[in-house]
Amino acid sequence: AAAESTVIFDGRFAREFAELALPWQAEEAPDPRLLVLNEPLAAGLGLDPAWLRSPEGLLLLTGNLVPNGATPVAQAYAGHQFGWYAPRLGDGRALLLGELTDAEGRLRDVHLKGSGATPFARGGDGQAAVGPMLREYIVSEAMHALGIPTTRSLAVVATGRPVFRETQVPGAVLARVASSHLRVGSFQYARATGDVDLLRRLADHAVSRHHPGAAEAGQPYLALFQAVAAAQASLVARWMLVGFIHGVMNTDNMTISGETIDYGPCAFMEAFDPATVYSSIDQGGRYAYGNQPVVAEWNLARLAEALLPLLHEDQEQAVALAVESLGAFRHQYSTAWLAGMTAKIGLHDGVGDDVASPLVDELLGLLQQGRVDYTSFFRSLGAAARGNAGPARALFPDPAAFDAWVERWRALGPDAEAMDRTNPAYIPRNHLVEEALASATGGDLEPLHRLLEAVTSPYDERPGLERYAAGAPEDFGPYRTFC
Ligand code: AMP
Ligand code: MG
Ligand code: MG
Repeated sequence: AAAESTVIFDGRFAREFAELALPWQAEEAPDPRLLVLNEPLAAGLGLDPAWLRSPEGLLLLTGNLVPNGATPVAQAYAGHQFGWYAPRLGDGRALLLGELTDAEGRLRDVHLKGSGATPFARGGDGQAAVGPMLREYIVSEAMHALGIPTTRSLAVVATGRPVFRETQVPGAVLARVASSHLRVGSFQYARATGDVDLLRRLADHAVSRHHPGAAEAGQPYLALFQAVAAAQASLVARWMLVGFIHGVMNTDNMTISGETIDYGPCAFMEAFDPATVYSSIDQGGRYAYGNQPVVAEWNLARLAEALLPLLHEDQEQAVALAVESLGAFRHQYSTAWLAGMTAKIGLHDGVGDDVASPLVDELLGLLQQGRVDYTSFFRSLGAAARGNAGPARALFPDPAAFDAWVERWRALGPDAEAMDRTNPAYIPRNHLVEEALASATGGDLEPLHRLLEAVTSPYDERPGLERYAAGAPEDFGPYRTFC
Protein backbone atom coordinates (compact mmCIF):
# COMPACT_ATOMS: atom_id res chain seq x y z
CA ALA A 1 0.00 0.00 0.00
CA ALA A 2 3.02 2.28 -0.29
CA ALA A 3 1.61 3.93 -3.39
CA GLU A 4 -1.34 5.32 -1.45
CA SER A 5 0.93 7.31 0.79
CA THR A 6 1.96 9.29 -2.25
CA VAL A 7 -1.54 10.47 -3.14
CA ILE A 8 -1.06 13.97 -4.52
CA PHE A 9 -2.97 16.82 -2.94
CA ASP A 10 -3.48 20.13 -4.64
CA GLY A 11 -2.92 23.35 -2.74
CA ARG A 12 -5.08 25.50 -4.96
CA PHE A 13 -6.71 27.66 -2.31
CA ALA A 14 -3.42 28.12 -0.45
CA ARG A 15 -1.66 29.08 -3.68
CA GLU A 16 -4.31 31.37 -5.15
CA PHE A 17 -5.45 33.07 -1.94
CA ALA A 18 -2.38 33.85 0.11
CA GLU A 19 -4.34 36.77 1.63
CA LEU A 20 -6.87 34.33 3.10
CA ALA A 21 -4.62 31.36 3.89
CA LEU A 22 -2.11 31.23 6.68
CA PRO A 23 0.34 28.31 6.39
CA TRP A 24 0.30 26.45 9.69
CA GLN A 25 1.13 23.09 11.21
CA ALA A 26 -0.98 20.69 13.19
CA GLU A 27 -0.08 20.01 16.79
CA GLU A 28 1.53 16.66 17.47
CA ALA A 29 -0.85 13.85 18.34
CA PRO A 30 1.07 11.76 20.89
CA ASP A 31 -1.05 8.62 20.64
CA PRO A 32 -3.31 8.60 17.57
CA ARG A 33 -6.09 5.99 17.57
CA LEU A 34 -8.68 5.60 14.87
CA LEU A 35 -12.25 5.82 16.21
CA VAL A 36 -14.14 5.70 12.94
CA LEU A 37 -13.27 5.70 9.25
CA ASN A 38 -15.61 6.29 6.34
CA GLU A 39 -14.30 3.68 3.93
CA PRO A 40 -16.56 4.43 0.94
CA LEU A 41 -15.79 8.13 1.19
CA ALA A 42 -12.06 7.42 1.46
CA ALA A 43 -12.16 5.16 -1.59
CA GLY A 44 -14.05 7.79 -3.57
CA LEU A 45 -11.21 10.22 -2.84
CA GLY A 46 -8.57 7.76 -4.03
CA LEU A 47 -7.37 7.13 -0.47
CA ASP A 48 -6.79 3.48 0.41
CA PRO A 49 -8.74 2.70 3.59
CA ALA A 50 -6.16 0.09 4.66
CA TRP A 51 -3.40 2.68 4.38
CA LEU A 52 -5.43 5.27 6.27
CA ARG A 53 -5.69 2.78 9.14
CA SER A 54 -1.90 2.34 9.22
CA PRO A 55 0.32 4.40 11.54
CA GLU A 56 1.29 6.61 8.58
CA GLY A 57 -2.36 7.04 7.62
CA LEU A 58 -3.23 8.16 11.15
CA LEU A 59 -0.44 10.72 10.96
CA LEU A 60 -2.05 12.13 7.81
CA LEU A 61 -5.50 12.17 9.44
CA THR A 62 -4.17 14.18 12.38
CA GLY A 63 -2.11 16.56 10.23
CA ASN A 64 1.19 15.12 11.46
CA LEU A 65 2.21 13.92 8.02
CA VAL A 66 1.89 16.52 5.32
CA PRO A 67 1.01 14.75 2.08
CA ASN A 68 2.73 15.48 -1.22
CA GLY A 69 1.57 18.73 -2.74
CA ALA A 70 -0.23 19.90 0.39
CA THR A 71 0.29 23.22 2.16
CA PRO A 72 -1.84 23.10 5.31
CA VAL A 73 -3.38 26.50 5.95
CA ALA A 74 -5.73 28.13 8.42
CA GLN A 75 -8.35 29.99 6.40
CA ALA A 76 -9.24 33.57 7.29
CA TYR A 77 -12.87 34.64 7.45
CA ALA A 78 -15.08 37.10 9.27
CA GLY A 79 -18.63 36.56 10.42
CA HIS A 80 -21.71 37.77 12.19
CA GLN A 81 -22.04 35.72 15.36
CA PHE A 82 -25.57 35.97 16.81
CA GLY A 83 -25.97 39.18 14.84
CA TRP A 84 -22.68 40.80 15.92
CA TYR A 85 -19.90 41.34 13.44
CA ALA A 86 -16.51 39.78 14.20
CA PRO A 87 -13.97 41.03 11.64
CA ARG A 88 -11.40 38.29 12.18
CA LEU A 89 -12.53 34.76 12.97
CA GLY A 90 -10.80 32.20 10.78
CA ASP A 91 -9.84 28.61 11.54
CA GLY A 92 -8.88 28.77 15.20
CA ARG A 93 -8.57 25.01 15.56
CA ALA A 94 -8.70 23.69 12.02
CA LEU A 95 -6.58 23.43 8.89
CA LEU A 96 -7.31 23.03 5.22
CA LEU A 97 -4.95 20.24 4.17
CA GLY A 98 -5.57 20.75 0.46
CA GLU A 99 -7.81 19.56 -2.34
CA LEU A 100 -8.29 16.14 -3.91
CA THR A 101 -10.16 15.20 -7.05
CA ASP A 102 -12.71 12.50 -6.31
CA ALA A 103 -13.79 9.55 -8.44
CA GLU A 104 -16.45 11.72 -10.08
CA GLY A 105 -13.85 14.31 -11.05
CA ARG A 106 -14.99 16.85 -8.46
CA LEU A 107 -12.53 18.95 -6.46
CA ARG A 108 -12.89 18.26 -2.72
CA ASP A 109 -11.39 20.05 0.28
CA VAL A 110 -9.81 17.85 2.93
CA HIS A 111 -9.88 19.70 6.22
CA LEU A 112 -8.89 18.83 9.79
CA LYS A 113 -10.81 20.08 12.81
CA GLY A 114 -9.22 19.93 16.26
CA SER A 115 -5.65 20.06 14.96
CA GLY A 116 -4.35 22.61 17.47
CA ALA A 117 -4.45 26.36 18.04
CA THR A 118 -3.72 28.66 15.11
CA PRO A 119 -3.16 32.44 15.16
CA PHE A 120 -6.97 32.73 14.75
CA ALA A 121 -7.64 30.92 18.04
CA ARG A 122 -8.43 34.17 19.97
CA GLY A 123 -7.76 32.54 23.33
CA GLY A 124 -9.39 29.22 22.40
CA ASP A 125 -7.36 26.09 23.11
CA GLY A 126 -7.37 24.86 19.50
CA GLN A 127 -8.63 21.47 20.63
CA ALA A 128 -11.67 19.37 19.92
CA ALA A 129 -13.04 16.66 22.15
CA VAL A 130 -13.92 13.14 21.03
CA GLY A 131 -17.65 13.63 21.75
CA PRO A 132 -18.32 16.69 19.56
CA MET A 133 -16.19 15.37 16.69
CA LEU A 134 -18.12 12.10 16.70
CA ARG A 135 -21.36 14.10 16.84
CA GLU A 136 -20.31 15.89 13.64
CA TYR A 137 -19.41 12.54 12.08
CA ILE A 138 -22.76 10.95 12.96
CA VAL A 139 -24.98 13.88 12.05
CA SER A 140 -23.21 14.86 8.83
CA GLU A 141 -23.28 11.27 7.56
CA ALA A 142 -26.95 10.98 8.55
CA MET A 143 -27.70 14.20 6.65
CA HIS A 144 -25.88 12.86 3.60
CA ALA A 145 -27.89 9.63 3.76
CA LEU A 146 -31.07 11.71 3.97
CA GLY A 147 -30.06 13.29 0.67
CA ILE A 148 -29.30 16.72 2.18
CA PRO A 149 -26.24 18.62 0.87
CA THR A 150 -23.55 18.57 3.54
CA THR A 151 -19.88 18.39 4.27
CA ARG A 152 -18.85 14.77 4.84
CA SER A 153 -16.87 13.08 7.57
CA LEU A 154 -13.88 10.97 6.59
CA ALA A 155 -12.55 9.94 9.99
CA VAL A 156 -12.29 10.75 13.66
CA VAL A 157 -8.94 10.00 15.28
CA ALA A 158 -8.38 10.30 19.02
CA THR A 159 -5.12 12.20 19.51
CA GLY A 160 -4.03 11.09 22.96
CA ARG A 161 -4.09 14.76 23.99
CA PRO A 162 -6.29 15.58 26.95
CA VAL A 163 -8.75 18.45 26.46
CA PHE A 164 -10.10 20.54 29.29
CA ARG A 165 -13.80 21.30 29.12
CA GLU A 166 -16.04 21.05 32.22
CA THR A 167 -13.88 18.04 32.97
CA GLN A 168 -10.86 16.51 31.27
CA VAL A 169 -11.92 14.66 28.12
CA PRO A 170 -10.01 12.90 25.33
CA GLY A 171 -9.08 15.01 22.31
CA ALA A 172 -9.75 14.15 18.68
CA VAL A 173 -9.31 15.36 15.13
CA LEU A 174 -12.14 15.14 12.61
CA ALA A 175 -11.14 14.85 8.94
CA ARG A 176 -13.84 16.64 7.00
CA VAL A 177 -14.47 16.66 3.26
CA ALA A 178 -16.34 19.48 1.56
CA SER A 179 -16.93 20.81 -1.91
CA SER A 180 -15.17 23.84 -0.41
CA HIS A 181 -14.95 25.77 2.84
CA LEU A 182 -15.96 29.09 1.28
CA ARG A 183 -18.44 30.78 3.57
CA VAL A 184 -20.44 33.98 3.62
CA GLY A 185 -17.80 35.06 6.15
CA SER A 186 -15.01 34.49 3.59
CA PHE A 187 -16.60 37.17 1.42
CA GLN A 188 -17.17 39.46 4.40
CA TYR A 189 -13.45 39.17 5.21
CA ALA A 190 -12.35 39.78 1.61
CA ARG A 191 -14.67 42.80 1.35
CA ALA A 192 -13.34 44.26 4.60
CA THR A 193 -9.76 44.21 3.30
CA GLY A 194 -10.83 46.90 0.81
CA ASP A 195 -9.08 44.95 -1.94
CA VAL A 196 -11.73 44.69 -4.67
CA ASP A 197 -9.43 42.59 -6.82
CA LEU A 198 -9.21 39.98 -4.05
CA LEU A 199 -13.01 40.05 -3.70
CA ARG A 200 -13.38 39.53 -7.45
CA ARG A 201 -10.88 36.65 -7.52
CA LEU A 202 -12.70 35.00 -4.63
CA ALA A 203 -16.02 35.38 -6.43
CA ASP A 204 -14.48 33.93 -9.62
CA HIS A 205 -13.18 31.00 -7.57
CA ALA A 206 -16.65 30.43 -6.08
CA VAL A 207 -18.23 30.57 -9.53
CA SER A 208 -15.79 28.06 -10.95
CA ARG A 209 -16.07 25.64 -8.02
CA HIS A 210 -19.77 25.84 -7.23
CA HIS A 211 -21.89 27.80 -9.62
CA PRO A 212 -20.25 27.56 -13.05
CA GLY A 213 -23.49 28.57 -14.77
CA ALA A 214 -23.03 32.09 -13.36
CA ALA A 215 -20.00 32.58 -15.60
CA GLU A 216 -22.26 32.58 -18.67
CA ALA A 217 -24.67 35.16 -17.24
CA GLY A 218 -24.71 38.80 -18.33
CA GLN A 219 -23.86 39.81 -14.75
CA PRO A 220 -21.82 36.89 -13.37
CA TYR A 221 -21.48 38.22 -9.81
CA LEU A 222 -25.16 38.94 -9.50
CA ALA A 223 -25.79 35.46 -10.89
CA LEU A 224 -23.39 34.06 -8.27
CA PHE A 225 -25.38 35.73 -5.52
CA GLN A 226 -28.64 34.44 -6.96
CA ALA A 227 -27.22 30.93 -7.21
CA VAL A 228 -26.06 30.97 -3.58
CA ALA A 229 -29.46 32.27 -2.45
CA ALA A 230 -31.25 29.57 -4.43
CA ALA A 231 -28.96 26.86 -3.03
CA GLN A 232 -29.57 28.07 0.52
CA ALA A 233 -33.34 28.32 0.00
CA SER A 234 -33.35 24.70 -1.09
CA LEU A 235 -30.99 23.61 1.70
CA VAL A 236 -32.88 25.26 4.54
CA ALA A 237 -36.16 23.86 3.20
CA ARG A 238 -34.57 20.40 3.41
CA TRP A 239 -33.52 21.07 7.01
CA MET A 240 -37.02 22.14 7.93
CA LEU A 241 -38.62 19.13 6.27
CA VAL A 242 -36.48 16.70 8.24
CA GLY A 243 -36.60 18.64 11.54
CA PHE A 244 -32.93 19.61 11.60
CA ILE A 245 -31.87 22.51 13.81
CA HIS A 246 -28.39 23.79 12.96
CA GLY A 247 -28.07 25.72 16.19
CA VAL A 248 -25.41 28.26 15.20
CA MET A 249 -26.27 29.81 11.84
CA ASN A 250 -23.64 32.52 12.04
CA THR A 251 -22.49 33.86 8.67
CA ASP A 252 -19.17 32.04 9.08
CA ASN A 253 -21.16 28.80 9.23
CA MET A 254 -23.07 29.31 5.98
CA THR A 255 -21.44 27.95 2.84
CA ILE A 256 -21.33 29.36 -0.68
CA SER A 257 -21.77 25.82 -2.05
CA GLY A 258 -25.10 25.25 -0.32
CA GLU A 259 -23.75 22.43 1.83
CA THR A 260 -24.59 22.21 5.52
CA ILE A 261 -21.45 22.96 7.52
CA ASP A 262 -20.21 23.03 11.09
CA TYR A 263 -22.17 20.61 13.21
CA GLY A 264 -21.82 22.09 16.67
CA PRO A 265 -24.86 22.40 18.91
CA CYS A 266 -27.15 20.93 16.23
CA ALA A 267 -30.00 18.54 16.97
CA PHE A 268 -33.09 17.03 15.41
CA MET A 269 -36.41 18.29 16.70
CA GLU A 270 -38.42 15.83 18.76
CA ALA A 271 -41.93 17.21 19.48
CA PHE A 272 -43.00 19.55 16.69
CA ASP A 273 -42.68 23.16 17.81
CA PRO A 274 -41.25 26.04 15.73
CA ALA A 275 -39.80 27.59 18.91
CA THR A 276 -37.56 24.58 19.57
CA VAL A 277 -34.02 25.51 20.61
CA TYR A 278 -31.51 23.00 21.97
CA SER A 279 -28.30 25.03 22.00
CA SER A 280 -27.21 26.26 25.41
CA ILE A 281 -25.56 29.33 23.84
CA ASP A 282 -28.66 30.41 21.90
CA GLN A 283 -30.40 32.12 24.77
CA GLY A 284 -32.53 34.44 22.67
CA GLY A 285 -33.71 31.64 20.39
CA ARG A 286 -32.26 33.43 17.35
CA TYR A 287 -31.54 30.08 15.72
CA ALA A 288 -34.74 28.30 16.79
CA TYR A 289 -36.15 25.73 14.35
CA GLY A 290 -38.82 28.06 12.98
CA ASN A 291 -36.42 31.01 12.56
CA GLN A 292 -34.00 29.23 10.25
CA PRO A 293 -35.45 30.48 6.94
CA VAL A 294 -35.48 34.09 8.11
CA VAL A 295 -31.94 33.80 9.45
CA ALA A 296 -30.77 32.35 6.13
CA GLU A 297 -32.25 35.35 4.37
CA TRP A 298 -30.56 37.71 6.85
CA ASN A 299 -27.22 35.98 6.26
CA LEU A 300 -27.70 36.27 2.50
CA ALA A 301 -28.22 40.01 2.91
CA ARG A 302 -24.76 40.09 4.55
CA LEU A 303 -23.36 38.21 1.54
CA ALA A 304 -24.98 40.70 -0.81
CA GLU A 305 -23.42 43.59 1.13
CA ALA A 306 -20.02 41.99 0.81
CA LEU A 307 -20.49 41.58 -2.96
CA LEU A 308 -21.78 45.13 -3.63
CA PRO A 309 -18.57 46.44 -5.24
CA LEU A 310 -18.86 43.67 -7.85
CA LEU A 311 -22.54 44.14 -8.61
CA HIS A 312 -22.46 47.61 -10.16
CA GLU A 313 -20.13 50.60 -10.41
CA ASP A 314 -22.87 52.76 -8.94
CA GLN A 315 -23.41 51.46 -5.41
CA GLU A 316 -27.02 52.63 -5.26
CA GLN A 317 -27.76 50.56 -8.32
CA ALA A 318 -25.80 47.68 -6.79
CA VAL A 319 -28.05 47.81 -3.71
CA ALA A 320 -31.17 47.84 -5.90
CA LEU A 321 -29.93 44.74 -7.76
CA ALA A 322 -29.10 42.95 -4.53
CA VAL A 323 -32.47 43.76 -2.96
CA GLU A 324 -34.31 42.56 -6.04
CA SER A 325 -32.35 39.28 -6.12
CA LEU A 326 -32.77 38.65 -2.42
CA GLY A 327 -36.50 39.15 -2.93
CA ALA A 328 -36.64 35.80 -4.74
CA PHE A 329 -35.46 33.89 -1.66
CA ARG A 330 -38.80 33.76 0.18
CA HIS A 331 -40.65 32.43 -2.80
CA GLN A 332 -37.94 29.87 -3.58
CA TYR A 333 -37.90 28.73 0.03
CA SER A 334 -41.70 28.49 0.35
CA THR A 335 -42.03 26.66 -2.93
CA ALA A 336 -39.36 24.12 -1.96
CA TRP A 337 -40.85 23.68 1.50
CA LEU A 338 -44.44 23.22 0.35
CA ALA A 339 -43.38 20.78 -2.38
CA GLY A 340 -41.48 18.83 0.29
CA MET A 341 -44.38 18.87 2.73
CA THR A 342 -46.76 17.78 -0.02
CA ALA A 343 -44.43 14.83 -0.65
CA LYS A 344 -44.21 14.04 3.08
CA ILE A 345 -47.97 13.56 3.20
CA GLY A 346 -47.77 11.43 0.07
CA LEU A 347 -49.60 13.70 -2.33
CA HIS A 348 -48.50 14.22 -5.90
CA ASP A 349 -47.31 17.54 -7.33
CA GLY A 350 -50.54 17.66 -9.31
CA VAL A 351 -52.50 18.35 -6.12
CA GLY A 352 -52.82 22.12 -6.14
CA ASP A 353 -51.16 24.25 -3.47
CA ASP A 354 -54.63 25.52 -2.59
CA VAL A 355 -55.44 21.98 -1.44
CA ALA A 356 -52.03 20.95 -0.02
CA SER A 357 -51.18 24.14 1.82
CA PRO A 358 -54.16 24.33 4.21
CA LEU A 359 -53.97 20.58 4.80
CA VAL A 360 -50.30 20.85 5.80
CA ASP A 361 -50.87 23.92 7.97
CA GLU A 362 -53.69 22.25 9.80
CA LEU A 363 -51.64 19.10 10.36
CA LEU A 364 -48.67 21.04 11.75
CA GLY A 365 -51.05 22.86 14.09
CA LEU A 366 -52.25 19.51 15.40
CA LEU A 367 -48.69 18.22 15.83
CA GLN A 368 -47.75 21.33 17.76
CA GLN A 369 -50.84 21.20 19.98
CA GLY A 370 -50.25 17.54 20.77
CA ARG A 371 -46.45 17.89 21.12
CA VAL A 372 -46.18 14.98 18.70
CA ASP A 373 -42.79 13.52 17.73
CA TYR A 374 -42.12 14.91 14.27
CA THR A 375 -40.13 12.02 12.77
CA SER A 376 -42.26 9.21 14.23
CA PHE A 377 -45.42 10.92 13.07
CA PHE A 378 -44.48 11.26 9.41
CA ARG A 379 -43.08 7.76 9.26
CA SER A 380 -46.25 6.31 10.77
CA LEU A 381 -48.37 8.33 8.37
CA GLY A 382 -47.17 5.91 5.67
CA ALA A 383 -49.02 3.11 7.48
CA ALA A 384 -52.06 5.39 7.72
CA ALA A 385 -51.97 5.74 3.93
CA ARG A 386 -52.13 1.92 3.77
CA GLY A 387 -55.23 1.95 5.96
CA ASN A 388 -53.62 1.52 9.38
CA ALA A 389 -53.93 4.90 11.10
CA GLY A 390 -53.52 3.37 14.57
CA PRO A 391 -49.79 4.04 15.14
CA ALA A 392 -50.06 7.67 13.97
CA ARG A 393 -53.24 8.19 15.96
CA ALA A 394 -51.59 6.86 19.13
CA LEU A 395 -49.11 9.75 19.04
CA PHE A 396 -51.88 12.30 19.76
CA PRO A 397 -53.10 12.89 23.30
CA ASP A 398 -56.49 13.88 21.83
CA PRO A 399 -56.85 12.23 18.40
CA ALA A 400 -60.34 13.45 17.40
CA ALA A 401 -59.09 16.34 15.26
CA PHE A 402 -56.47 14.08 13.70
CA ASP A 403 -59.18 11.54 12.76
CA ALA A 404 -61.05 14.25 10.87
CA TRP A 405 -57.84 15.31 9.12
CA VAL A 406 -57.06 11.72 8.10
CA GLU A 407 -60.45 11.34 6.47
CA ARG A 408 -59.95 14.39 4.24
CA TRP A 409 -56.37 13.45 3.47
CA ARG A 410 -57.11 9.84 2.53
CA ALA A 411 -59.70 10.98 0.04
CA LEU A 412 -56.82 12.54 -1.93
CA GLY A 413 -55.15 9.14 -2.44
CA PRO A 414 -51.77 9.45 -0.68
CA ASP A 415 -48.98 7.23 -2.04
CA ALA A 416 -47.63 5.14 0.85
CA GLU A 417 -44.59 3.86 -1.02
CA ALA A 418 -43.48 7.35 -1.97
CA MET A 419 -43.96 8.41 1.66
CA ASP A 420 -41.59 5.69 2.87
CA ARG A 421 -38.93 7.06 0.54
CA THR A 422 -39.51 10.60 1.86
CA ASN A 423 -40.05 10.20 5.61
CA PRO A 424 -37.07 8.62 7.37
CA ALA A 425 -37.50 5.90 9.98
CA TYR A 426 -34.10 6.61 11.52
CA ILE A 427 -32.57 9.97 12.34
CA PRO A 428 -29.78 10.61 14.84
CA ARG A 429 -32.09 11.02 17.81
CA ASN A 430 -30.67 13.10 20.60
CA HIS A 431 -30.73 10.39 23.27
CA LEU A 432 -29.09 7.90 20.91
CA VAL A 433 -26.37 10.35 19.91
CA GLU A 434 -25.64 11.10 23.57
CA GLU A 435 -25.52 7.40 24.36
CA ALA A 436 -23.09 6.75 21.49
CA LEU A 437 -20.84 9.69 22.41
CA ALA A 438 -20.72 8.79 26.09
CA SER A 439 -19.85 5.17 25.31
CA ALA A 440 -17.20 6.15 22.76
CA THR A 441 -15.63 8.64 25.16
CA GLY A 442 -15.45 5.79 27.66
CA GLY A 443 -13.82 3.48 25.08
CA ASP A 444 -16.79 1.45 23.80
CA LEU A 445 -17.37 2.14 20.09
CA GLU A 446 -20.15 -0.44 19.62
CA PRO A 447 -23.13 1.94 20.18
CA LEU A 448 -21.57 4.44 17.74
CA HIS A 449 -21.28 1.86 14.99
CA ARG A 450 -24.83 0.54 15.60
CA LEU A 451 -26.23 4.07 15.41
CA LEU A 452 -24.27 4.81 12.24
CA GLU A 453 -25.64 1.65 10.68
CA ALA A 454 -29.20 2.79 11.38
CA VAL A 455 -28.91 6.43 10.30
CA THR A 456 -26.90 5.83 7.14
CA SER A 457 -29.84 3.86 5.66
CA PRO A 458 -32.60 6.02 7.06
CA TYR A 459 -35.52 5.06 4.82
CA ASP A 460 -35.08 1.30 4.91
CA GLU A 461 -36.91 0.16 8.04
CA ARG A 462 -35.35 -3.07 9.32
CA PRO A 463 -36.35 -5.53 12.02
CA GLY A 464 -34.19 -5.34 15.13
CA LEU A 465 -33.71 -1.58 14.91
CA GLU A 466 -36.93 -0.57 16.70
CA ARG A 467 -35.13 1.38 19.39
CA TYR A 468 -33.50 3.57 16.71
CA ALA A 469 -36.94 4.59 15.44
CA ALA A 470 -38.45 5.32 18.85
CA GLY A 471 -38.64 8.64 20.67
CA ALA A 472 -36.59 9.49 23.74
CA PRO A 473 -37.51 7.70 26.96
CA GLU A 474 -39.43 9.80 29.51
CA ASP A 475 -36.44 10.05 31.83
CA PHE A 476 -34.20 11.59 29.11
CA GLY A 477 -35.56 15.01 30.13
CA PRO A 478 -35.14 18.34 28.32
CA TYR A 479 -32.21 18.26 25.89
CA ARG A 480 -29.37 20.80 25.77
CA THR A 481 -26.47 20.91 23.30
CA PHE A 482 -23.06 22.52 23.78
CA CYS A 483 -20.41 23.37 21.24
P1 AMP B 1 -17.99 27.94 15.44
O1 AMP B 1 -19.07 28.70 16.14
O2 AMP B 1 -17.79 26.56 15.96
O3 AMP B 1 -18.20 27.94 13.98
O4 AMP B 1 -16.62 28.68 15.74
C1 AMP B 1 -16.48 30.07 15.62
C2 AMP B 1 -15.03 30.46 15.65
O5 AMP B 1 -14.40 30.05 16.86
C3 AMP B 1 -14.19 29.89 14.53
O6 AMP B 1 -13.29 30.88 14.17
C4 AMP B 1 -13.49 28.70 15.20
O7 AMP B 1 -12.28 28.38 14.55
C5 AMP B 1 -13.24 29.25 16.58
N1 AMP B 1 -13.13 28.21 17.61
C6 AMP B 1 -14.13 27.43 18.08
N2 AMP B 1 -13.67 26.61 19.06
C7 AMP B 1 -12.34 26.86 19.20
C8 AMP B 1 -11.30 26.35 20.03
N3 AMP B 1 -11.53 25.39 20.95
N4 AMP B 1 -10.06 26.87 19.88
C9 AMP B 1 -9.80 27.83 18.99
N5 AMP B 1 -10.75 28.36 18.17
C10 AMP B 1 -12.00 27.89 18.27
MG1 MG C 1 -17.61 27.55 12.25
MG1 MG D 1 -18.03 24.71 15.41
